[in-house]
Amino acid sequence: MKKRLALLLACGMAVSMLPVQAEEAKDEINVGVLIYKFDDTYISTVRAALEKYAEEADVTVNLNMQDAQGDQAKQNDQMDVLMAQDLDVVLINCVDTGSAQGLADRAVDAGVPAIFFNREPDASVLESCSGLFVGTTASEAGVMQGDLLADMWEAHPEYDLNGDGVCQYLVFKGEPGNPEAEARTSYCVSQAEERGMTMENIQGEPVVANWATDQAQSAMEAILAAHDGEIEAVFCNNDDMALGVISALNAAGYNTDAEAEKWIPVIGVDATDAGLEAIRSGKMAATVKQDGDAMGKALIEIAINAANGVDFVEGTEYEIAEDGVSVRIPYSPVTEESTAADAE
Ligand code: CA
Repeated sequence: MKKRLALLLACGMAVSMLPVQAEEAKDEINVGVLIYKFDDTYISTVRAALEKYAEEADVTVNLNMQDAQGDQAKQNDQMDVLMAQDLDVVLINCVDTGSAQGLADRAVDAGVPAIFFNREPDASVLESCSGLFVGTTASEAGVMQGDLLADMWEAHPEYDLNGDGVCQYLVFKGEPGNPEAEARTSYCVSQAEERGMTMENIQGEPVVANWATDQAQSAMEAILAAHDGEIEAVFCNNDDMALGVISALNAAGYNTDAEAEKWIPVIGVDATDAGLEAIRSGKMAATVKQDGDAMGKALIEIAINAANGVDFVEGTEYEIAEDGVSVRIPYSPVTEESTAADAE
């Protein structure tokens, strides 16, 4: 009965009119968490934050986290196992957003509220299960990368190595088709152009390195062999790839430290610990922080509301975005100055 009430409320039926929370608030909730891949660096920070904020919550939050290891079939099986348990809410980080509808349907069948995060399904999927997406605005990281490069280009005329007034650049891309990868890849360049830069992709197209350091490193080694001295800036969809690019640059005598004679700006996304260290040591120009801690905090607060059948954001600092089905966690730019300020 309780579960049925929660489901009805999760479906948005007169949620805010009922003083449900005071009478029915649960003192213990069971949360299933489907993770696309535990060893993704950013996702690891989200997992740590989920554990931290679950521990700090006013109620007992039991987390059951599952690692799909990048395999959608495995995640589907994990969803089936979770849905057979007595869960109050499920948090879903899809392997493949194309399979989100199937996961949403299973949640509806089991009467469990579903909150997707990080990898964004179509709004129609969220509407079908009265669910929510918690994530970033896909374009925002790319826009910030473009702004960071434009700021540096204005401050450092010497970055235009051949002095032609055009920025010869590379962009290292995550998996093609991934909405974050696509948005970052296009918006970093379009924002730099918006800011008045003339951009020329040395390869004519993005370098696909699937978010991976080793793939980025070997690709960059090959490009440097053909274009040494011609590359003036490198955008990477994430810090893991930026670190691979930097390893290849270091091997060719570039970006060994902030005073290096040969230095080109490399801009990542994520602000991983290794990425921040590369910025502090003068190897990387900047990154954009996707705040894993803020994501974990939001997910726990929203999960507790969902488990109690009240509006997702009631009593929280979060707001539902204009699309009506999401909560957006902002990015922030990180440069050498801001890492120094954080350390103080
Ligand atoms: Ca140039």
